[in-house]
Amino acid sequence: MDGQPEALIDLDAIKANVAALTRHVGGIPVMAVVKSDAYGHGLLPSAKAALAGGAAWLGVIQLADAIALRRAGLQCPIVSLHGSPDAPHGDAISQDIDLTAGTPALVRQIGAAAGLAGRPARLHLEADTGMGRGGAIEAQWPALVDAALTAEAAGLVRVVGLWSHLACADIADHPSIGQQIDAFSSAIALAERAGARPEVRHLANGPATLTLPDTYFDLVRPGGAVFGLSTLPGGVPEWLRPAMTLRAGLIQVKRVPSGTPVSYAHRYITDRETTLGVLPLGYNEGIPRHATNVAGLLAVRGRRVSIAGTVNLNHVVLDLGDDGAEAGDEVIVFGPGDSGEPTAQEWADRLGTISYEIVTRFTGKVPRIYSGVTGAGSDREHAVDGRSSGQVAAAH
Ligand SMILES: *Cc1c(COP(=O)(O)O)cnc(C)c1O
Repeated sequence: MDGQPEALIDLDAIKANVAALTRHVGGIPVMAVVKSDAYGHGLLPSAKAALAGGAAWLGVIQLADAIALRRAGLQCPIVSLHGSPDAPHGDAISQDIDLTAGTPALVRQIGAAAGLAGRPARLHLEADTGMGRGGAIEAQWPALVDAALTAEAAGLVRVVGLWSHLACADIADHPSIGQQIDAFSSAIALAERAGARPEVRHLANGPATLTLPDTYFDLVRPGGAVFGLSTLPGGVPEWLRPAMTLRAGLIQVKRVPSGTPVSYAHRYITDRETTLGVLPLGYNEGIPRHATNVAGLLAVRGRRVSIAGTVNLNHVVLDLGDDGAEAGDEVIVFGPGDSGEPTAQEWADRLGTISYEIVTRFTGKVPRIYSGVTGAGSDREHAVDGRSSGQVAAAH
């Protein structure tokens, strides 16, 4: 290959993962969470692939993402899971995008926007049952419900959802899991006694969707699992497939003698005659600088090779040993793992992070090439409103 880094996105894997998750939960509707540019896989093509796999809902964080999906013609329920004051609520309401609120003040703001838009806002109330992030804690929940039902009675909102978010779903037997399920059940009971008639009650993120049936309620919200990723120890079950392969070609290869110092600060010195290869990927593109000198985390011609020395802004040097290699050889940074290449999970385990952080690092820096369900293409063809969903400016 010509050296240029690429993220290959397997849309069929995304589609198959959603279908497999739907089977796993026994047909409960799946909301595919496609926040953060679909975990770095590209918002619109990933969302379409998830719908092709049977996702009934789409979840995002930023309202702008929800609006982009609606403008692209997607008709399914879309919710912005991020209650935020002074967001363009009116646009969201007129585009039939579900909003969320965790405070009475935000309910009133959304209600006012709905009054101007001339139609009720579809609203999900967020209970903080132990995440300590958004939402109303137990003491604040009655006031939130009251504000929402008042706005509903005035025809300004329709309370379509009650939801909460788990903090420790990926930690086996964590005591907070049961406590959050109980707290959420109590919050639902209180809201329904007060007169709320939600369409959906939802709690489960991806790890919970995989391992905690008591959290399913009416709708599950997997994110990383849609892309074949998990925060569970040991990573994703083998029936889910990682959808991203990150690769680039070697731009130069050379033989060097033993004792050759390599890269900034000479943190690597060859201990034998060997072949060095230069890869055009550095920490600007998404290789963590902490990967300096990591052994065996990239694959060339089916064998594992090591990073020699410091990760640079746009380059790493690889120690390729004595096996043949030439400029243009494909280097796989991570992929689904079926040809023995490393996975994002393996990178995460080695660098002390989670696979989500590994795959999202390349967003906007490395162009994506899509294969599968919605047809081959690149960021350019899948641009949302003329704007590339990955904000990739460079030609590729
Ligand atoms: C990110 C997120 C999810 C999905 O989480 P995963 O761990 O990726 O499955 C679900 N719900 C909310 C509110 C989120 O923020």
